[in-house]
Amino acid sequence: MSSYPQTSPPHRFNPNFTQSVIDAMGPKTDERLRFVMSSLIRHLHDFTREVELTPDEWMAGVKFINLIGQTSTPTRNEAHRMSDILGLESLVDEIAHKHVNESGEEPTSSSILGPFWSPNAPFRENGDSIVRSPHNGELTLMHGVIRDLDTKKPIPGAVIDIWQASSNGRYDFQDPENQEPNNLRGKFRTNEKGEYHFYCLKPTAYSLPTDGAAGAFFKALDRHPMRPAHIHLMITAEGYKPVTTQLYPRDDPYVTNDTVFAVKDDLLIDFNPREGDDKAKLDLEYNVTLAPREGKTAPMEEPQTPEDAPIYSRIAARRAPRPLIPLDLALLHNPAIADGWNSFIGAIRTQTSLSSALKELAISRIAVLNHAVHEWDVHAALALQAGITREGLQTAFTAPVFGRGEAVKEVDEGGLTKEQWAVMAYTDQMTKSVEVDDGVMEALKGVLSEREVVELTATVAGYNCPGSATLVARRYASTKHPKGFVPPTQADLQELRESVQDFARREIPEDVAMKTDADNAFPNEMWRKFGEAGFLGVTADEEFGGLAMGYQAHCIIMEELSRASGSIALSYAAHSQLCVNQLMLNGNAAQKAKFLPGLISGEQIGALAMSEHSAGSDVVSMKMTAKEVDGGYLLNGTKMWITNGPDAHTIIVYAKTNPQGASKGITAFIVPTSSKGFSCAKKLDKLGMRGSNTGELVFEDVFVPTENILGDVNRGVRVLMEGLDLERLVLSAGPLGLMQACLDHTLPYTHQRKQFGAPIAHNQLVQGKLADMYTKYRASSAFTYSVARAVDESHENPQIRTQDCAGAILYAAERATECALDAIQLMGGMGYMNEMPVGRILRDAKLYEIGAGTSEVRRMVIGRAFNKEFKDL
Ligand SMILES: Cc1cc2nc3c(=O)[nH]c(=O)nc-3n(C[C@H](O)[C@H](O)[C@H](O)COP(=O)(O)OP(=O)(O)OC[C@H]3O[C@@H](n4cnc5c(N)ncnc54)[C@H](O)[C@@H]3O)c2cc1C
Repeated sequence: MSSYPQTSPPHRFNPNFTQSVIDAMGPKTDERLRFVMSSLIRHLHDFTREVELTPDEWMAGVKFINLIGQTSTPTRNEAHRMSDILGLESLVDEIAHKHVNESGEEPTSSSILGPFWSPNAPFRENGDSIVRSPHNGELTLMHGVIRDLDTKKPIPGAVIDIWQASSNGRYDFQDPENQEPNNLRGKFRTNEKGEYHFYCLKPTAYSLPTDGAAGAFFKALDRHPMRPAHIHLMITAEGYKPVTTQLYPRDDPYVTNDTVFAVKDDLLIDFNPREGDDKAKLDLEYNVTLAPREGKTAPMEEPQTPEDAPIYSRIAARRAPRPLIPLDLALLHNPAIADGWNSFIGAIRTQTSLSSALKELAISRIAVLNHAVHEWDVHAALALQAGITREGLQTAFTAPVFGRGEAVKEVDEGGLTKEQWAVMAYTDQMTKSVEVDDGVMEALKGVLSEREVVELTATVAGYNCPGSATLVARRYASTKHPKGFVPPTQADLQELRESVQDFARREIPEDVAMKTDADNAFPNEMWRKFGEAGFLGVTADEEFGGLAMGYQAHCIIMEELSRASGSIALSYAAHSQLCVNQLMLNGNAAQKAKFLPGLISGEQIGALAMSEHSAGSDVVSMKMTAKEVDGGYLLNGTKMWITNGPDAHTIIVYAKTNPQGASKGITAFIVPTSSKGFSCAKKLDKLGMRGSNTGELVFEDVFVPTENILGDVNRGVRVLMEGLDLERLVLSAGPLGLMQACLDHTLPYTHQRKQFGAPIAHNQLVQGKLADMYTKYRASSAFTYSVARAVDESHENPQIRTQDCAGAILYAAERATECALDAIQLMGGMGYMNEMPVGRILRDAKLYEIGAGTSEVRRMVIGRAFNKEFKDL
């Protein structure tokens, strides 16, 4: 009891109140009860103060608790259910049953009991069936051995008590019209070999009742009420700790998001076909391990290390503002600084008094010494902007390394001033030899204040960490990945996928997808939600709010969003890939700082405009012009079929700066749609992808300042073509999601829909279609993710093969259309109805054979890539 903290978090209310309520308990109160109640009162008061509960909210809570009581009946325990959906039973269960023996092994996990156990279940003989009433389920022989955790010996005479819901999702006492008492219940005793066997049903997923207090709670919390299919077990044996648990089919869609949080890995089961048994078609083997009652329990596992934390909390931690790393650590070139690099240099950049010219000169020079191409591209431009001359920058690029013992230049030379030469010498010596000559130090102190010397030191150290110059060069050389990019692990990616699935389930349920399609209008509140989830800058630098997770992650988000709604996902990709990633790959530091944060947070909407009425496949024949005028360019012309065009705040626009120059005369511009002369002529009405707003855009003398040129003048085709490879890669995940959606709808339908007395999925022609759909999805998915993985893993020297990116989307897009057609066919008349989503999926899928280059153009691009490779033969 003394270990319980006796203090509450700081607050502004009466500090003695809680203790006086606790102290009001009289001396006859049982010790354990006193402990439990003291803790409960303390938590309850802390909670009330923390949220500053209003009288109305308190009264709503009171009514809610009353509702729980009113809903409860002799056979319905609503308070138990409330505990379950708050995770309370799972937590109590874990606290009560966590057991690991001294060799680190664990017995069969326990799981929640739930409100449906009955003490009256009859004993039955091994080999009997617990199925006593009619049902639509699949009969299964369940068998296994019960063993001792320490000795591994079988336990004879152990009792296994099983109960399960029928195929309609109801237990015997909830369903007296269809089920006799003790249907699907029974106790069995193991034989001398510790074996048990009996017939039961393959379980069915079901919804918790939503008509009472729990239902109101689900609605308020925006949660689904589904439990994965499960079989309840209670296993007891003399001398052993009992296990109460539930088993879950591994392929059940709710095992990853059980609404009562009860699933554990070792409780997942596989059903196999059973041959030669006329009582059961399925076979389930489940062996149980019991811990001896007197067995020793090893200490609980250590708390998670930061690396084990869930991906979102790691991302959140990375995105949280970090304090400046102490300079002394930086000066020691501690490798740990590498991870704090981005925030560290960000802080230096904004918080030093050192002139920008000197700072950018030093950083540019470090980039040269470290062969860090990306850093040079960015900081050389900033150095020029800050006043370093072109000649001086050229000198910084070519000057030999300033070695130990050399004298510092005392004159202006090579476009650099005496002051700048001192900075160069200091930067070189710190970077190459770590130690700095006294002479160089003197020269520096002669031109900089003491504070500026310290700040320059921090800058140089920060840009050089961690210690090894080559590592810095490698880490920051990639031009296709964010700074400090480290490819995510497969576990990270799986966790991300589950998070996106969770997001899609909450934010894009089927009714939202259907409404978006029917209204042909994008739900604009989605942008902020995407931003908050971190989806909009998945390939962008963290310093702009991005996740810096790379292309595999981007494909996963695209796939799972497309699975929920093809059109919402298309708009997502036009923003996050076509606009944000193009800016990330080609923007200079100032452009990124100006445009990326708003786009990544979802405050701003992005688009990319290259196609025109007369220039689709042959996009280089575009007619839009950009004429140079004082301080910038005037854009004139129209763009066609632009995704997000009607809503966008920022559009990357391609235009001819040299109309005679064909592919060498195109330049990319960043155009804010608030610019005078810009308009959206109309929002287009489409066959599919409805709600992904597509527009025809008009540019009449739209002035774009020089600083908004993306990449180099007349080099826009390079920006465009390089962008197209990655665009095709990320967009290829769209058809993957649509194929998954086809399977999501078709698999349950064909197993539930009966014709000629059997589920239609039991016909070989139907199985053939299902098998083809599944195989097409798996093959397309393997293609896309193998390419994305290769791009991520080659991040130090990115390998982006045009034929692979075009091939991935070519293959996936055509397969998705085929799958959608099959899905409609398999669902028959219902498949043709607009109330079913498969028609929408077909209309959405077709776009992927047209947008981002048609199938024909993709084949042409692949063929040309080979022509290029074999040109010398
Ligand atoms: C919903 C939607 C969203 C879009 N979003 C954007 C966007 O955000 N930004 C943007 O810039 N563009 C966008 N587009 C435009 C898209 O990229 C073009 O529609 C596409 O590139 C095809 O061009 P096109 O429509 O002019 O067809 P065309 O080029 O006229 O092609 C018509 C047919 O001729 C075939 N064809 C053409 N040339 C050849 C050849 N050499 N060999 C064999 N066959 C050939 C094509 O494959 C196609 O079957 C979008 C289009 C749609 C429908």
